[in-house]
Amino acid sequence: MSASCCDQALDPHRGNQSYRRVLWAVLGINLVMFAVEVVAGLAAGSVSLQADALDFLGDTANYMISLFVVGMALRYRATAALVKGATMGVFGLWVLGTVIWHAAHGTLPNAFTMGAVGIAALIANAASFGLLWAYRSGDANMRSAWVCTRNDVLGNLAVLLAALGVFGTGTGWPDVIVATIMAALALQGAWIVVSQSRAELRLHASPA
Ligand SMILES: [Zn+2]
Repeated sequence: MSASCCDQALDPHRGNQSYRRVLWAVLGINLVMFAVEVVAGLAAGSVSLQADALDFLGDTANYMISLFVVGMALRYRATAALVKGATMGVFGLWVLGTVIWHAAHGTLPNAFTMGAVGIAALIANAASFGLLWAYRSGDANMRSAWVCTRNDVLGNLAVLLAALGVFGTGTGWPDVIVATIMAALALQGAWIVVSQSRAELRLHASPA
């Protein structure tokens, strides 16, 4: 969920070819799940699915940065982080706007689609974690990989909880409440990424 979700674990083995293949695989998984959750969220009228898509978007960006930008100069890394934070911020605001629209119109999302896609997201995160697990190194990397996956899984479970709540109450409120919390957390994360990368760029731009 958080802004730095999953990026700490990826630094070692940078030149390793099989590790790069694994990064490509998890990038693909996260990108596909981002698209699936956005499309399914729109089709099912579920904002919590769209809010959960924010995490897959952020993780996709992290894997892209690991594959293409990590070895570059600080200026490029900070710019990449700024683009990532801004993209997540714009998408997060769009999700929040959609939340307000759904709350105002009292729409009823499709609980079955929410549940099915929530479970698919859970499997996708477990698969990503399994693929990266072989490349964990050292205590710090292991810990951050755990923390990242735990946060991702908590998001997926929140969607499943919302699906259960929608099914049980026959209203869209559980979906709206869960989506509001998730989108707010994602926006906070995006804000932190944007401010940090802007500070880095300012520091870099000032004469030494
Ligand atoms: Zn994540």
